[in-house]
Amino acid sequence: MTQTHHTKVLIIGSGPAGYTAAIYAARANLEPILVTGMEPGGQLMITTEVENYPGFADVIQGPWLMEQMKAQAEHVGTNLITDYITEVDFSSRPYKAIGDSGTIYTGDTVIIATGAKARWLGLPSEKEFQGKGVSACATCDGFFFRGKEVAIIGGGNTAVEEALFLTNFCSKVTLIHRRDSLRAEKILQKRFFGNDKIETLWDHTVEEILGDETGMTGLRIKSTKTGEISDIQKDGAFIAIGHDPATELFKDVLEMDEDNYLITASDSTATSIHGVYAAGDVTDHTYRQAVTAAGMGCMAALEADRFLAASEVPKSAEKIHAAE
Ligand code: FAD
Ligand code: NAP
Repeated sequence: MTQTHHTKVLIIGSGPAGYTAAIYAARANLEPILVTGMEPGGQLMITTEVENYPGFADVIQGPWLMEQMKAQAEHVGTNLITDYITEVDFSSRPYKAIGDSGTIYTGDTVIIATGAKARWLGLPSEKEFQGKGVSACATCDGFFFRGKEVAIIGGGNTAVEEALFLTNFCSKVTLIHRRDSLRAEKILQKRFFGNDKIETLWDHTVEEILGDETGMTGLRIKSTKTGEISDIQKDGAFIAIGHDPATELFKDVLEMDEDNYLITASDSTATSIHGVYAAGDVTDHTYRQAVTAAGMGCMAALEADRFLAASEVPKSAEKIHAAE
């Protein structure tokens, strides 16, 4: 028999945005339900050191921070459910979300905190060698490359942090970047350039992952300056070229920008449907930090609370233009 759970505030996603929304909603006696998704804890579960989340003078570990947020959300009364939302219906209230388990969740309000997913280069050979040398998570897979030579592709904070992390295991780490400067924070760049296990291959893109039945053996790269193609030998490749917002579910349901981020009203987390809010990386083109995601989660819960309390709450899912 199909199970149905109803709540005043349905939160989709268990990263910093979702957990913070849950903490605020639970403390407002809104008895929120939070559906965790397939990556409980979100992106910080795949990193190691976090040193920019305020409140901790010593460096903390990403998974530990997320365990603490989870425990805090539970202690104040959030109902955490392990499920993955596969379908939503926001055409009338209460809003409906259907889980992979078949469970139906209905919410008087919904907070979307589905975050972002790792981006891939889109090469067929990249798919072919995933798990056989190609990875998008150094923290998860770095250990398998002890004493080996690996490449990391990208020039942002993730690429630089992962390159530094990989030097703990690998004999050599080559960062391949399509330009000649990094966009990573200066403090990370200082560590990066000071590490003699790391070399940088500027102005190159990856054209193909090379390999055989044993797995990946190298990379075909192309100079963005001269167009010259060359092959280099590598035992592994870590793709760190950013993340895409997890918004497929909301296509044709909520307004999105050209990069598929959910559009919210200015100084608000309100989406294009009354009572549906978006917080964190799913709506954030610019900052994409744990602390900003948490801040938006707080905003979303406060906005949901005010929406529920307002006497003029519309009964039907009236479309608004949130961005106006
Ligand atoms: P996410 O953390 O992406 O969480 C999204 C959640 O949504 C997940 O729990 C997922 O399971 C869930 N979900 C997705 N789809 C569904 C669905 N259909 N149904 C149910 N649930 C769903 N930021 C910092 O401030 N400091 C750092 O040091 C730092 N290090 C980082 C290191 C790495 C390697 C990466 C990748 C990011 C790092 N960031 C860091 C960025 C930070 O992790 C993100 O900004 C933050 O996690 C965004 O939080 P979020 O809650 O919006 O989404
Ligand atoms: P990002 O900042 O978007 O950087 C992506 C990098 O990949 C850029 O250098 C980009 O090149 C390159 N790139 C993108 N598409 C490419 C392609 N198709 N081929 C080759 N290269 C490509 O992503 P991120 O590093 O994952 O960071 C995401 C967010 O999380 C950021 O806001 C970041 O600050 C945050 N984060 C923070 C920390 C921290 O605070 N310690 C750690 C990790 C992540 P260009 O530079 O040419 O655009």
